[in-house]
Amino acid sequence: MKYLVVGSGLFGSVFAYEAAKRNNFVTVIDRRSHIGGNIYTKEENGIQVHQYGAHIFHTSDKYIWKYIQKFTKFNNYINSPLANFQGRIYNLPFNMNTFNQLWGTITPQEAASRIKKQSQELFGKKPKNLEEQAIQLVGHDIYEKLIKGYTEKQWGKKPTELPPFIIKRLPVRFVYDNNYFNDEYQGIPIGGYTQIIEKMLDSPNILVRLNTNFLANKNSYLENYDKIIFTGMIDQFFNYKFGKLEYRSLKFETRELPMDNFQGNAVINYTDVAIPYTRIIEHKHFEFGQGNKNKTIITYEYPDSWDSSKEPYYPLNDKRNNNLYNKYHDYAKKQNKIIFGGRLGQYRYYNMDQAISAALKLVNKEF
Ligand code: UDP
Repeated sequence: MKYLVVGSGLFGSVFAYEAAKRNNFVTVIDRRSHIGGNIYTKEENGIQVHQYGAHIFHTSDKYIWKYIQKFTKFNNYINSPLANFQGRIYNLPFNMNTFNQLWGTITPQEAASRIKKQSQELFGKKPKNLEEQAIQLVGHDIYEKLIKGYTEKQWGKKPTELPPFIIKRLPVRFVYDNNYFNDEYQGIPIGGYTQIIEKMLDSPNILVRLNTNFLANKNSYLENYDKIIFTGMIDQFFNYKFGKLEYRSLKFETRELPMDNFQGNAVINYTDVAIPYTRIIEHKHFEFGQGNKNKTIITYEYPDSWDSSKEPYYPLNDKRNNNLYNKYHDYAKKQNKIIFGGRLGQYRYYNMDQAISAALKLVNKEF
């Protein structure tokens, strides 16, 4: 079979790798000048700089963990971001350290009873939105200081207008444990993410074409390939025939500073709504401070509204958008040549392991 994969991110590259292994011919095109989509990293001053925001690999799926390690080794980085609210530092995710910093509580019982008091009005109710879900999980104080401002900035909407599942991505723990993820396996690839994609695409059966826009030549691609795996925006593919899906964008501002250590941690979130960025990442701390001792690279992350001139980073999975996506999905099922995949093609807030898993599921179905 002759496959065309549109987009060389994780979903597209896993599919291309598996298809090529099974003796199919795959052309991978990407409109950017590099492979890897948003997991793309680039070496600067002896460290890997995450060009499109922090990517920390984590999964509970042993098969996926083994699968990704075929392409590189991982370090044992554990994500433990901090929150800066009005000049004070709090541990994340919400755990016994955070509760102690806020209330001076020492035991899990004390902390749980504080939270219970602060969320009584919602006790036993099914949360209708992110605000209700957050207050139910951690109470008013944490909601006001560590969630409300950050969430409003991140999504450009009030937490009352957002779906509850977004905040459920974060663990709440009654132990003194600052690991941001509950997953069993976690780390950062030694040597960066780009080399993983390079290895996936390194096959005599794969042809990679960068700076290549699918939509500019859609009809000829449709004619020339047996099947197309499209990992761009599904609504754009169909020329927005049912209406436009909403996305959230980001802007990154990266600086090199003449010092070894700027903030003492890889990720610090700024949870006050008055500060325009949501987080600062200091790349060398993903690799335990390796690299040039006289320099460090930091990136400010600013959430941004989305329009077609900007990069779509997050799908906005509320009811309206999910219903609209379902229309596209049903319509897409009737097209026999095209399969949609990845965060944009499936309009899902995928983590990296989920993107791989979805691609492998498609591989099983196809072959
Ligand atoms: N969140 C928050 N405060 C924080 C970090 C996260 O309120 O300090 C909320 C916010 O609504 C965010 C969601 O939790 O959108 C999910 O956060 P996560 O870190 O998973 O977001 P990602 O890294 O995917 O941008």
